[in-house]
Amino acid sequence: MRNRLTGQTVELLRAMIRNECVNEGTPESGEEYRNAQLLAGFLDDTDIEVQTFESAPGRMNLLARIPGRDPAAPSLCFNGHTDVVPVNPEGWTHDPFGAELIDGEVWGRGAVDMLNLTSSMAVVMRDIAESGFRPAGDLLFLAVADEESGSNYGARWMADNYPELITTDYVLTENGGLHGGSSSNPTVGIRVGEKGVAWRRLTIRGTPGHGSKPFKADNAIVKAAAVVGRLAEYAPAPVFHDHWESEVSEMRLTDEQKAQLLDPGSIDELLAELPAGQAGSIHACTHTTFSTNVFTSQTKTNVIPDKVVIDVDIRTVRGDGSDEVRAHLEEALGELAADIEVEPLMNDVASLSPIGTPLWDSAQRAVSAAFPDARLHAGVTVGFTDARVHRELGAVSYGAGLLSPNLSAADFGARFHGNDERIDVESIALTTQFYRDVVTDLLG
Ligand SMILES: [Zn+2]
Repeated sequence: MRNRLTGQTVELLRAMIRNECVNEGTPESGEEYRNAQLLAGFLDDTDIEVQTFESAPGRMNLLARIPGRDPAAPSLCFNGHTDVVPVNPEGWTHDPFGAELIDGEVWGRGAVDMLNLTSSMAVVMRDIAESGFRPAGDLLFLAVADEESGSNYGARWMADNYPELITTDYVLTENGGLHGGSSSNPTVGIRVGEKGVAWRRLTIRGTPGHGSKPFKADNAIVKAAAVVGRLAEYAPAPVFHDHWESEVSEMRLTDEQKAQLLDPGSIDELLAELPAGQAGSIHACTHTTFSTNVFTSQTKTNVIPDKVVIDVDIRTVRGDGSDEVRAHLEEALGELAADIEVEPLMNDVASLSPIGTPLWDSAQRAVSAAFPDARLHAGVTVGFTDARVHRELGAVSYGAGLLSPNLSAADFGARFHGNDERIDVESIALTTQFYRDVVTDLLG
């Protein structure tokens, strides 16, 4: 069975990569209808109920449902996104949309984020329907657009317009399944929570004038530079999430360093000493962060600019909502804050699902079937996924899959939105089987 399902997953993944549903962050990009229709075609000759929803021209979501035999039994939704982020082809060894299968790896944008998982989900739906297995509770597959730009045409749109159709007790989505721990205590990662997102657009105004007379001028770029500088220097206090101690226990650090990471009074001192990549990850896990990533002004060299717009990517820890974000900005910017217009672009608070649930136990048994010694290890991601939308609807949502032990966290992380994105066939096989096992265990 594994070979057949693996073959189907590989071919579906390759077809989805070739569809190039690249989300540029504009309403007209993505065109996920191509992947939605591909998935609808894949599920077509089964008795699965399939519906599609056009959230905007070219933006399409697919919902497939296998009804449960017991209306009171818990339900499970597989949530997979069908869009991918843009590429810079110059950095790639192979065509990013060629979906070539080379030395046991499928290459292309979306191979790890997350067309691989979406393909596994679709294959499991089809296999469940064909096997004659009738789940106790409803089994849903929600293939959504626009996850990469904040879900406005995808999961968020479905939650706003059809909450009754997509609300389930349990949800599986991206991403998890990396091996960690030690040889005596091996673990497999599962994402149970994520930081909040509070993107803000700041408008800084000045007074136009001739570029030949800058003395005492009111130059918006000069003011904006000060704003950007203060945001970069701003250092809010650390906040630890519920699984922080457990995450620290997995890190390759000395016991003394681990103790520092668990002490709000000394973590920032240690971060100052650690190398940039490691420090950046740990800092993001434990602080609300501010990154100015877009800076827009005029392009005329001889005119003193009267307006600069900057977009700040703010990621929040537990407890930081809109009011707290406003307070952070006021503290960071001091007297500069008064003249700045702040427009919210995104507003989702940090979210966390409990561990030790029936879904957790089913996932543990499915991992144990492939890796008998490995225990699940809960982690919180600093990025956002569609899990946050389902948590708002009340579902226990995990980012979960199962990867090959040969795939390191560093390699996996570098491929995420990076160059030479690819996934090995062994990981594809493991994830499809993992999802299959969770369905029969949880909904059996
Ligand atoms: Zn993703």
